[in-house]
Amino acid sequence: MKIKSVRARLFQWKGKTVPPQRNFCSNAMDLLYAPQETMSTFRFHSWTVVEIETDDGIVGLGNVALAPAIAKAIIDQYLAPLVIGQDPWDYEYLWQRMYRSTHAWGRKGVGMAAISAVDLAIWDILGKSVGKPVFKLLGGRTKEKIPCYYSKLYRTDLKEMQNEAQKYLDQGFTAFKMRFGYGPAHLQHGVKENLKSVEAIREVIGYDNDLMLECYMGWNLEYAKRMLPKLEKFEPRWLEEPVIADDINGYAELNAAWSIPISGGEHEFTLYGFKQLLEQRAVSVVQYDTNRVGGITAAHKINALCESYSVPVVPHAGQMHNYHLTMSSVASPMSEYFPMFGVEVGNELFYYIFDGEPVADNGFLQLRDDVPGLGLTLKTEFLDQFEIIE
Ligand SMILES: [Mg+2]
Repeated sequence: MKIKSVRARLFQWKGKTVPPQRNFCSNAMDLLYAPQETMSTFRFHSWTVVEIETDDGIVGLGNVALAPAIAKAIIDQYLAPLVIGQDPWDYEYLWQRMYRSTHAWGRKGVGMAAISAVDLAIWDILGKSVGKPVFKLLGGRTKEKIPCYYSKLYRTDLKEMQNEAQKYLDQGFTAFKMRFGYGPAHLQHGVKENLKSVEAIREVIGYDNDLMLECYMGWNLEYAKRMLPKLEKFEPRWLEEPVIADDINGYAELNAAWSIPISGGEHEFTLYGFKQLLEQRAVSVVQYDTNRVGGITAAHKINALCESYSVPVVPHAGQMHNYHLTMSSVASPMSEYFPMFGVEVGNELFYYIFDGEPVADNGFLQLRDDVPGLGLTLKTEFLDQFEIIE
């Protein structure tokens, strides 16, 4: 079996979107003095889909959501020529070929996200070529089904947030992640607002269920140090990305100083990036995303590394490519889960582009044994609402 062609297409959403709301999630732009920009950098409404075809007619699907137009250009210009004519079973060799030949500029960020998309398509081919789901190639089922946590609860009106939490509590979820709306720029008023929102959600879900808190890099170390002692009484399961991804010492300091586990990794890349996070005890929960971190080839290795550190892996964003890693690793206790919503931040687009994503049932996800590969196909239902760029 040889790879015959690589096709990367940009799917740009031109349909209806949910308008951005102020302060609905703190983020890295909050520390600059142009707060009107912050929500626009948080939203992304396009995705790149990669289809790799083999000489025996198998088509593997991969995807990339980080700067997808740039990722497409990288795939077209740099990565496709490296894998065409090659045997997809040589996936480690192909990964190293892509990684090493783009090393000067591609080892982190969008370069690695582009490599991830190609690697995903390759693994989809491998599964399809032997008629097995990808998780079977990675070790198989380590759990009967995958526990998942409800992830959304953007900062809006507190009553609205409470209604949202109640709705998903009633659907059987036992773990919830909420977003902070405020960071250092909002001074003491923001501190109080942040605390009020956590209190409001705890009021609904009680203390028998898990609550995770998301900062999306919208704080700095000083602000995080002010917040953490005030948050301890709410018993969060973790506090996510309190500071920017590069401030590894900051993560380590926060992780050591308080009882709240610090999580991160959705903006970290490859085995080396996670080795650094783990060696420095910077995070107590690892949250790579397979379509950024280096694909399944890299994520599988990171799972093993995390297992050796006894640090749980709860991949970012849900989505099929991550579920296969969670199903097959004892290091990964559960998945993030976003139900399908109107197009708002952009991660919802996955549901609009692909068919096959499992839907949570009573707080659990199931992967099928009889669907080979990653289990995704391109959806036709919303095709006319995308501009597709070849
Ligand atoms: Mg996150």
